[in-house]
Order: sequence, then structure tokens, then C-alpha cells
Amino acid sequence: MVKETLKFLTPESVRQIAEEFGTPVYVYDEAALTRHAEAALAFPNAFGLTVRFAMKAAPNAAILRVFHRLGLHIDASSGFEVKRALRAGIPAEHISLSTQEFPEDFAQLYKHGIRFNACSLAQLERFGELFPGCRCGLRVNPGLGSGGTGKTNVGGPHSSFGIWHEWLGEAEAIVAKYGLSIIRIHTHIGSGSDPAVWERVALMSLETVKRFPDVVTLNLGGGYKVARMASEKATDLQAIGQPVKAAFEALAAETGRKLKLEIEPGTFLVANAGALVSMVRDVVRTGGPDGMHFLKLDSGMTEILRPSLYAAQHPLVIVPAQERDSSAEREYLVVGHCCESGDILTTGMDDPEALLPRCLPETFPGDLCVVEGAGAYCAAMSAKNYNSFPEAPEVLVGLDGRARLIRRRQHPDQIVQNEVDPGE
Ligand SMILES: *Cc1c(COP(=O)(O)O)cnc(C)c1O
Repeated sequence: MVKETLKFLTPESVRQIAEEFGTPVYVYDEAALTRHAEAALAFPNAFGLTVRFAMKAAPNAAILRVFHRLGLHIDASSGFEVKRALRAGIPAEHISLSTQEFPEDFAQLYKHGIRFNACSLAQLERFGELFPGCRCGLRVNPGLGSGGTGKTNVGGPHSSFGIWHEWLGEAEAIVAKYGLSIIRIHTHIGSGSDPAVWERVALMSLETVKRFPDVVTLNLGGGYKVARMASEKATDLQAIGQPVKAAFEALAAETGRKLKLEIEPGTFLVANAGALVSMVRDVVRTGGPDGMHFLKLDSGMTEILRPSLYAAQHPLVIVPAQERDSSAEREYLVVGHCCESGDILTTGMDDPEALLPRCLPETFPGDLCVVEGAGAYCAAMSAKNYNSFPEAPEVLVGLDGRARLIRRRQHPDQIVQNEVDPGE
């Protein structure tokens, strides 16, 4: 097994951050965010490219602003995300909404100037009623999907996302009824998708474009795989982008239509630019022939749900409280602080029910454990306040190397602030 190492922190910076901000704490690195944004902006394209950050992966305003400064736009997954992005200072014209739940206050958001992709026939009808004669995009379910797990596959007959490709005739009827103009086709088939399936869907989407003469933009979504673990293989954006660029050029040669490309990665931009620094609070062992050694962290599904939910594998790097001269190693199960056996960071490959002990240096209470690859869908998606643990703070290490707080640790009072005594 390949040894996991820190991606942007050092043992010294881990100790300093733990000392200054306490644990558990999320840490992001502006230099890494910048590098990933630049790689996304270099995505092959024939006639122009917009990169949108799928903000559901890491919605902190400080992160949105880093990407805004670098020229990225935003993909929002709900009306609330739209408002959060506006609050962070993102211009409305830079925000595109593709949502499962049509917001109550959609008309207000749309009048601000946001872009909108109708993700169902009912949404398209609603849009037509509110804004006849106006322009919008269509999210299409191309009939096949691909994701790292069943929970993150969002294309194909078992997925509710987008308008099923065989119902586009009905979409055309709604478009005609309200005099709408479809200017964008959108697909997103899943997170951690197979590059070959992604490419096939990209080429199929160009066929959909041919049915809608006003379309000027094709949005191919996100889902690009990153290597969190040293043993994993990342999707090469240049490699998957080249054939798609050629297809855009072929469409232009055939029809004269020069389509703009949009992509909207989440994971790719932030996953390996974030880490969770936690402390080992206890080390216990069970006996008998199946006895195990356990590391208990001051963190867990309250900060990182992905191992329990998807059996996601995250590098775990032990930073001893003080430098230690020892090469002793041991197999450990690493568990979270919630009273539930499902709160475990060393779940088996592809099976959240299975256990897969990790070989780590011999570890003691007070040592730090850095969960790497925790920039995407961790602070954004956790079992917040379970067991009444307060929400952990977030810190951004700037280009100057300084760590700055971008979200305070939640005060325990805030956990119960909306509770109401019903009285007699
Ligand atoms: C979640 C999502 C993305 C980003 O997916 P990643 O796997 O994080 O790249 C992009 N587009 C839409 C519509 C999404 O819902």
C-alpha cells in the first residue's frame, strides 16, 4: 500500500493550526484552489469556455470569492444557494441554477439576473407561466449516467435529474406554448463518473443541441474524478476534453453553430484543497482472536460523512503531538466521536458496512489525525450537531501562507437557539 502524506500542510502547520483554532477544524489552501481553478480554465474548448464552481461542494463565501477573483462562475443547486452566493458578492449573471426543487421566490431571483436550467417538464411549465417569451436552459437526462457510487450517479432511468431524453418532444411543446427560447442544454451524469461514459454523453448532448436552434451553450456538468488516495487515478481533463472540442468543431463545420462550452466541477476544484485536522482522544483495543485496535477522534460523521455514506476512502495522516523517533506501525480502525457504530472513517472499499483497518504509525491520545481530501462535500455535507457536537470552524491558508478563520466554531447555544418551549 502506498504511504499517504499531507497534501498542502506540514506537520508544523498542522500543530500550529490545531493550537490556534482548536480541533476539529477544516483547513483550505488558496494556492491549491488556484491551481485547480487554473487547470479547469485550461479545459479544451473550441469557441469559449465558462467554468462554474458547483458551490454545493464547499459553499463558504471566502471560497466562492477566491474562485470569483479567478474568473469562475457559480452553479447553484437550490434557491438558498443562489442567495448565499449573492450574499458573498457573486454577480447574479454569474450564477446558474439547476435544482431539484423550484424555489418559491424564483421570480425574484430570476429578475436579479440569474441563469436557469429547467430540470423537469413541470419546472419548464412554471418558468413559461412566469416568464413567457424568455430564455432558459434545459437539463436533460441523457439515458445513461455514471458515478463513483449509486448515490452519486445522476443519469439513467433510475435517476430523477433532468428531463428524460425521450420526453424532449413534450419540452418542445411547452417551449412553443409560451414562446420560450432554449439557449442552453445541460447534462450532469454523476460525481466521480467514468471518463468514457462522460465523453459519450457529451457527444450525445450535441445531438440534443441540434433539436433546439437557439442553443448557444452546452453545459457538460461536473463529476471529474480526483485522486484523494495515492492509489486512485484522477480524470485527465485534457484527455477527456480534446474529443469533445473536436466534436464542437465538427458541429460548427456542419451547421455553422459555434457553441460555447460550460463545465461545472465541484470535487475537482476543492477536494484536495481541503483537509480536516482532528485530534486522537483515545486509543482502545478489543480482545480475543478478532480483537482490534481503535483510534477515537474528536471528529467523525459530524464533520465528514463520506466514509459512512459512500464508503469513501480518505487519506489519514497521523501528526504526532511532538516529533517522535519511532517506526512502529499498527493496523487501526479509525472511528468518530458519535455514539453509533456507523461513525467510522476506515470503511471498506465500496461497502460502508465493511471495515478496512488502516496501517498507521503507532498513535497515542493527543496526536493529531489529518483527514486529507476533505475539501469537497465535507463541511458542506455532514451530520451537523448529531450528538450535539458544535459545528467545526473553517480556516483558509492564504497565498501568503497565513491561516485565517473563515467560519467560527459554533457556540453550543446556537445548536438550540431555535428551540421553543411549547408552554402549558
Ligand atoms: C453536484 C453537481 C456538480 C458537481 O459535481 P462534482 O462531482 O462535485 O464535480 C455539477 N453540476 C451539477 C448540476 C451538480 O448537481
